[in-house]
Amino acid sequence: MHCYRVEPGQAAQIAARDTRDVQGFPGDKRAGKARIKELNAQLEALQEVLYAEGKHKVLIVLQAMDTGGKDGTIRHVFDGTNPQGVKVASFKKPTSSELAHDYLWRVHNHTPGSGEIAIFNRSHYEDVLVVRVHSLVPEHRWRRRYDHINAFEQLLADEGTTILKFFLHISKDEQKARLEARLDEPHKQWKFAKGDLAERELWGDYVEAYEEALTRTSTESAPWYVIPADRKWYRNLAISTIIVDALTRLGMKYPDPEDGLDDIKIE
Ligand code: ATP
Ligand code: MG
Repeated sequence: MHCYRVEPGQAAQIAARDTRDVQGFPGDKRAGKARIKELNAQLEALQEVLYAEGKHKVLIVLQAMDTGGKDGTIRHVFDGTNPQGVKVASFKKPTSSELAHDYLWRVHNHTPGSGEIAIFNRSHYEDVLVVRVHSLVPEHRWRRRYDHINAFEQLLADEGTTILKFFLHISKDEQKARLEARLDEPHKQWKFAKGDLAERELWGDYVEAYEEALTRTSTESAPWYVIPADRKWYRNLAISTIIVDALTRLGMKYPDPEDGLDDIKIE
């Protein structure tokens, strides 16, 4: 799954990447789903030792176009983990109080503590994406933000945070199909937002904004992964694999037990 990493200093080349790619896994959908079950069990075990050891912090950033599958990713990839140690922060349109501060102000408070995994469902990247596409602040202001973001993420990494950032990459056709499904299926209609259609018209602008954001902010300490996301099972599999690999590499251990536990008898 390493091929999905945006190498620091190199162009993300989003437009050249296949949203239906499956080369990272040899099997079909059935085999993929079985593999996801195994990965879920591994992630559950890793999260428990992360929590018990209380040393590392883990930040997962999820970004995507509308209907890209952030919610489904959170549901499936983290299935089985302990809600005590995993928190999700969803970043919506900023409130007036959030807008009155710098754009990282609302974000910092949701970063993970020791032993925790924090999942950002959208993130500070909106401040160089939607903000850029809609000119919500002038260009000279959002342009400086790549440096702020890199410095902010380096700070988190220096203080013990493992950061993994995922762009769920769907095609414009796949978005059409998913929007249609939201219209057609009664239990999905609540998800349909007319505003998403206006954003869809700006598809090209968003691709441009994502391209520059991912290119400028994929670093060794906080790499971006462009995940082929038209196939949901493959998207989940790719993300699970990358997270499990990264957490395994931390070499975490359960804390040593207190001395003399062998002699204890519970009456
Ligand atoms: P779903 O896929 O379920 O629709 P969502 O993440 O799109 O989930 P919404 O409530 O539909 O959730 O949308 C959140 C909106 O908030 C997005 O349009 C996003 O661009 C916007 N937003 C997030 N952060 C900012 C920001 N800093 N400035 C302006 N808009 C923002
Ligand atoms: Mg939405």
